Amino acid sequence: MVTPGNAPQSTDVKQESKNEIKVFISHRDSKCDECGEELGRQAWITLEENKGALCLACADLEELVFLPTGDAALTRRSKKYSTLSAVVLKFSKARGRYERQGLLVEEGALAQAEAECLADSEVRQRRNERARERRSELDEEFVREFAKSIRVIFPECPEGREQIIAEHACLKYSGRVGRSAAAKTYEEETVRLAVLAHVRHRETNYDSLLAKGWSRGEARSHVRNRVETVLKDWRD
Ligand SMILES: [Zn+2]
Repeated sequence: MVTPGNAPQSTDVKQESKNEIKVFISHRDSKCDECGEELGRQAWITLEENKGALCLACADLEELVFLPTGDAALTRRSKKYSTLSAVVLKFSKARGRYERQGLLVEEGALAQAEAECLADSEVRQRRNERARERRSELDEEFVREFAKSIRVIFPECPEGREQIIAEHACLKYSGRVGRSAAAKTYEEETVRLAVLAHVRHRETNYDSLLAKGWSRGEARSHVRNRVETVLKDWRD
């Protein structure tokens, strides 16, 4: 009797369901016990009790197509749609055990599985596009609402500044706060802080003090009065 190597008792094989048909890629010369054909090395054979090695034709598996491992979803679906399927195992001398190479499945089942996986990826792509559109809508809404809040709290803010400050805040908050929390950032304190930072950078020499090597604390207290004056002007 011809065996494909060591007895298939490794864990890899045990994990397969008992009823699953196993096809072994032999690593020695094989001969089909039924039709007598010399199969040579690397033959794909099944082992049947009391029969020994069978070629795929004699085992009635010749019509199946091979699907290599690697795509879990495709494999799962192909198997589900295939009335007849077989797992393909090969003995790894290096690891001393049988390893799964893939599945033999019905061609129609593979086609159906491929179509479903393709449809899935298209669905996923459309979903991502929708999410992207939604995000940019949210960004626009964020800027609009934030700018509106600035104008309410600082009615004398120069024309167009609220847009600049709001866009900057949007960049800052878009990555940091969840979208559900975005509404909170329109609150007065957040708006006030955003305007304050803007005034400090744009209406005082704060940045040049930093450039000259002042610490942030020193620079901030140096420009504090100027910042307060500007904020008061913008408020009324
Ligand atoms: Zn045969």
